[in-house]
This record gives sequence, structure tokens and C-alpha cells, in this order.
Amino acid sequence: MTQYQSLYRKWRPKSFEDVVGQNHITRTLKNAIKLKRIAHSYLFSGPRGVGKTTTARILAKALNCQNGPTENPCNRCTCCTRIDGGQSMDVLEIDGASNRGIDEIRELRSKIGFVPTEGKYKIYIIDEVHMLTNEAFNALLKTLEEPPAQVIFIFATTAPHKVPKTILSRCQVFNFRRISIEETVEKLTRITEEEKIEIDAPSLHLIAESATGSMRDAESTLDQVIAYSEEKITSDVVRDILGLIPHEIFRQLIAAIINKDTGTGLKLIDKFVREGVELGQLVEDLLIYTHNLSLLKILGKDNSSSLSYFEKTEWEEVEELAKKSSTTAILKIIEELRGIAERIRFHHYPWVLLELMVVRLAHSGEKGTRLTEDGDIRSESKIDKKDIVAEKRGKLKTPPKKDQESSPAKVKITADDKTPEKDNFEQLWSKVLARIRKEKISLYAFLMAGQNVHIEDGELVIGFPKKFLFHKESLEKKENKKKVEEIFKEEASYGIRLKCVISDNESDEALNLDLYEDKDRIKDNHTATAETLKPEEGNKVNSEEIIHRNNIFKKAHDLFGGEFSEE
Ligand SMILES: [Zn+2]
Repeated sequence: MTQYQSLYRKWRPKSFEDVVGQNHITRTLKNAIKLKRIAHSYLFSGPRGVGKTTTARILAKALNCQNGPTENPCNRCTCCTRIDGGQSMDVLEIDGASNRGIDEIRELRSKIGFVPTEGKYKIYIIDEVHMLTNEAFNALLKTLEEPPAQVIFIFATTAPHKVPKTILSRCQVFNFRRISIEETVEKLTRITEEEKIEIDAPSLHLIAESATGSMRDAESTLDQVIAYSEEKITSDVVRDILGLIPHEIFRQLIAAIINKDTGTGLKLIDKFVREGVELGQLVEDLLIYTHNLSLLKILGKDNSSSLSYFEKTEWEEVEELAKKSSTTAILKIIEELRGIAERIRFHHYPWVLLELMVVRLAHSGEKGTRLTEDGDIRSESKIDKKDIVAEKRGKLKTPPKKDQESSPAKVKITADDKTPEKDNFEQLWSKVLARIRKEKISLYAFLMAGQNVHIEDGELVIGFPKKFLFHKESLEKKENKKKVEEIFKEEASYGIRLKCVISDNESDEALNLDLYEDKDRIKDNHTATAETLKPEEGNKVNSEEIIHRNNIFKKAHDLFGGEFSEE
């Protein structure tokens, strides 16, 4: 019986040509060998699984091959095969994480004086070199300062910033890149063809995508998938194993929001909940998806880095979605998701946040910004492309804050200044919604059409836009009202009367795009009784500020008419 060899080991590159995605490095190394300009110490830095130690081994073979130094080690001589098998006396691989003390480095130094036994060089490959202790680094530094002629160090690290500058400055540094999805797929395709494994293209894409640039991860996932499935491997199986949500679902969700198809949006979220998807991760992934969609929308297909994010197979539909959505709408979804991402992990009923987002976004366009492309030209022109480029450069989580005065069209009262009472009420209301959802889904649907939920004069007030008159009236039916009041009482441990109002005042709606804006809290602060909410003095927003903000909104409204663009 032959022992199973993992794909990673079996398919580990044996020559520079086989190393995937690091041409900029292998070319330089080959040149250096050809020109006999070999450095005494190299530092290979980069994420895990991208080929650092593999390249180090190939370099060792290139230097010590019996035909060497050569750019093309033969892989057949004793030197080459011993290095491949990890048995060479001259090439020592040391794991910096487990041999990090000064004793190990001292021992290493004591042996450095010996001449190589088989090859021409004595080569030390120290992996995860940043893990060494300071004493070990100091001992190492002495060797690096006066390296014996036949000794070469190759350091590898995933955290170059943790390597002392004194060491770095003595090394030739090579930065390994993450391997692109296309390159990973290419190699996986070659492997599966050679190994006669039946697997479809979307499956390979999913595996490559989940590996986030690490070939080793991709190969071990493929191993896992092969072990799991008995016949032809399909993307369903891969998704199962990886616990992945396919892009297609994200596309459907965004499309539902854009099309104001609340039903489909809520159904998708319900599906996530039933399938036990980790919603925090879902929001992060959805945020990245939408971010890439915005790049595609604003920069176009040719200039957008989203090219490598979306798979070829999904291009057609993603482009259609980008074409159909307005830039404002996409940015608005990103904004919402950012807010949710910050809160969702601490929320008792995380899906409520997502459902509220779907409903709110689907209804936010009635009076203000349209979500679809047609007729959205004015707000479109207000988007500053520079902001998007800045976002693209990794500022996804901290968008530039605009001075509200100087940019009246983009007024947004933020809900960042969290206060305990606001959080408490939000948590409480989510709890109530979650229970109603479980006990009477139709009632839940009526409630979801409401907005600006707050407590006023000891009553639970829910506003409804005129077009949701039906929802309002249904909610006001005796048995429904009673149900809400009962559940609220059980969760809050105090009774309250439910009051439904029509709230179609335009400025109200615009200011209350976020369900729990400052304005609501002001009301709460003024009216809440001692046993309901206990506002903290320091957190009150003074009413002058609200009036001031209202004025800014009015100014914006005068300037741009019915348009309201939220940044
Ligand atoms: Zn050889």
C-alpha cells in the first residue's frame, strides 16, 4: 500500500519555472546566479503559502547542484535529491518559531565554521525568522556582519516589520505576492488534469478564491474536497466544505435592494439564518462585494481592480447590476453595511439589523435618492471620484469625513455617538422584533414597513409612510396591537401603548434614514420616564444643534430641490 502524499508536497515546485505568481523574484534570482552575484543573506517576505520556503529550497539546489551554481538545478544529483528530501548536510532548515532562543543560534554559529560537506555552500533557511528572540537576533547579527565566504542565509517571514532593521539592512529583500485567483486556478487545473480528478471550473474558482492568495491553502483545500467526494466534484460540495456564500447570493441581495424587492431580500436573509451562516462574516463579505461593485461602477471595467475579484463566469450579471444601480445607491449600501459590521457581533439578534437595512434602503428612495440608474444624474455628479480612489487604496473602513458646513448637499447626521439609552432601546426593539418574527410572521412584515420607532410620552410610536397605510391599519387591528404590546411588556418589563402614525414629512424622512437618529434620542431624553430610559447628562445633544442641522438640510433642499443625497 502506498502512502498518500498530499498534493502540496507532491506538486511542490522543483525549479524556478514552476513557482507560480512570483516571476519578479525568480527572474532576479536566476539572473544573479547567472552573473555569479550571490548575496550572503536573503529575506523572503510575504503571506503564508505563497512559495517563500519553496523558493528558498530551489535557490539552495541551484547553488549546490553538482552542475551548479546553475539557474536550472538538475533535480537528479545527490545534492538536489537530498535537499528535496530535507536530508542535506549542507542545507539546514530551521523553524524560527520553535528554535527562537539564543542557544539555538549559538549552536548554529558554532557549526558555521565547518566547510560544506557535499555542495559548495552551507545554506541556512530560517523560517518565520521574526519569531527569534532579541538575544538570538543579536547573535545572528554578529554572523551577518562578517559572514564566512561559504555561508548563505535565507530568511523567510510573514511579518517583516518584526525583523530588526539591523538584520533587514544586511539582507537582499524579496517581497512575495499573493497569488492571483487566475494563477491559482491555472495550477489547480493542471493538478486535477494530471491526477485525473473530475472537478468543474466553478469549483476550482471557489477553492482559489477561498485560499486568498495562498497556493498551499488552495492545494490542501483541494485535498480535502477530494477526500470528501466520491464522484465528480461540483461547486455545491465545495461550498459546503468551505462554508462559503457564493457571490451569486450577494448579487441577488443587492439586486433585491436596488429593485426595492423587499420580499426577496428578506427571504435571502431568512435563508442565511436558517442555514446557520455566521452573519458577522457575511456582512464583511457582502461589504467587500459591494465595494468591488462600486469600483466597477465608478472606474469602469478596464480601470477597476475588481476585475480580479469577480469571476469571469459572473461578469455579465455583475456588469448588468452595476449598470442598473446608481452610484449613490451602492455607496449608501456600503455605508449601511459599515454601520452594521461595527455592531453586529454584539447584537443578540443580528439578522434584524440586516432585515432593517433591506427594508430601509428599499424605502429610502421614495422621496429622495433613486436607487436605479435612470433619473439619477444630478446626485451622480455630486460624487467625488477622488473619494472612491481613496477608498480603493485601503481606506475602506475610515471614509474621509466632510465638513458639513462646506458640503451642505451631503449632510448626514451620524449615529456614531453611541449612548447607552440608544443602544438599549435598539437592543430591546430588536428583541421584540425577533420574537414577533418567530410568533407571527405576518405581524412582523407589517412592523418592518414602519420607520422612526421611538418612545414618546410613554407610548411606543411607529411611523408609516402614506403608501404603507395598509401596513399601518393592519398593525392597528386590536389583536395585532395587543400582541405587540404584550411582547414588548415581556421583554422590557414595563407596559407601553402602541401608537401608529403617518410620517410622510419629507425632511423627517430624510433626516431619519437611519432608524435611530439623534432626533429620536432627543425626544426620548425629553419624555422618557425614569423606569424606561436613563439618559446620561453628558450625552444629550442640545436642541439648538438639531435646529442648526435642520437648517443645513433646508439649505441643501433649496439648492437641489427634491434630491437628497446621502454620503
Ligand atoms: Zn542537481
